[in-house]
Amino acid sequence: MKKLIYTFFTIALLAIGIGVLYVFFINPSATSTTHKSIKKANSVPTKKKVTTNKETTPAVDTNILLVNKDHPLGANYIPQNLVVPKVKFISTGDPNVREMNSTAAAALENMFAAAKQDGFTLLAVSGYRSYKYQTQVYNAKVRKDGKASASEYVAIPGESEHQTGLAMDLLSTEYTELDDGFAKTKSYGWLEANCAKYGFIIRYLKGKENITKYNFEPWHVRYVGVTAAETIMEKGITLEEYLGKTN
Ligand SMILES: [Zn+2]
Repeated sequence: MKKLIYTFFTIALLAIGIGVLYVFFINPSATSTTHKSIKKANSVPTKKKVTTNKETTPAVDTNILLVNKDHPLGANYIPQNLVVPKVKFISTGDPNVREMNSTAAAALENMFAAAKQDGFTLLAVSGYRSYKYQTQVYNAKVRKDGKASASEYVAIPGESEHQTGLAMDLLSTEYTELDDGFAKTKSYGWLEANCAKYGFIIRYLKGKENITKYNFEPWHVRYVGVTAAETIMEKGITLEEYLGKTN
């Protein structure tokens, strides 16, 4: 009996030894960085989803929060689960407006990491703004540029997507001004081509000012989830058009 047990352990030890040898010496790729496997895991399902969308048009997700001049939020609306996304922020930004809803924040982190892998360092500028904060921003802009000009770029309190906790203004190390010069950068090209994979859309498009009631804002992304984002970005439409709520 004892002999049998010894034989068994010897075989087991040999098997483990061979396994270790295989992993470290014969097939080193088995221990290579988890980077590759993460990238694979991320990119494969995303590609599959794109194909699925083309074959069958997914139902419109009507749970998506629409905030604009016709659909304002109340002064007391505060989003759930606000966190500061673990991404690089622009040094000149206001540290009080870094939060996002946790789901959107996680998606933003993934998008920034993917951009970095492709050679673009995105910089977050401004996320969640409370009703009170928006009131301050709006009033300051009105004092500077007058009421008509101010409302083209700065939302009237309650009408700002930044109050949803689902929007982020962002730039890149390539271009650090919040103006439409950002649209001419390679970083913006990357953003436009890839944001939908992470559930984001460019919210205020060029040529859609009559629908969004905002000038083109290449720096403003909005989280809507991957399915809606892919449809919206692929068709080049606005959130209003996607939801069938154009006034
Ligand atoms: Zn914005």
